[in-house]
Amino acid sequence: MSRECKKCLLLESAEGDILKDIQEKITKLSPQEKCEQAEYEKRLELCKACDNLVSGVCMKCGCYVEFRAAFKNQKCPDVKDRKWKKCQ
Ligand code: SF4
Repeated sequence: MSRECKKCLLLESAEGDILKDIQEKITKLSPQEKCEQAEYEKRLELCKACDNLVSGVCMKCGCYVEFRAAFKNQKCPDVKDRKWKKCQ
């Protein structure tokens, strides 16, 4: 069992198998679905600074942020304080 890590992405934790699975899924997204790399990295930086991030999972929605943030049409699920929005 891995230990809980506040404000850690999977990339920084010991969840290598999950991260690999997510990275494979991201490579299969179409250009219409996939967020630009610079925006993706910006989103993840915002997640890393967020109190809702625990071991790569957003406590607001239960998603792995490294997967959720890869989609152009996704947004931060915190309705009171959206830290990142859909891509235009
Ligand atoms: S609430 Fe938003 S910024 Fe915070 S971890 Fe979830 S997706 Fe990331």
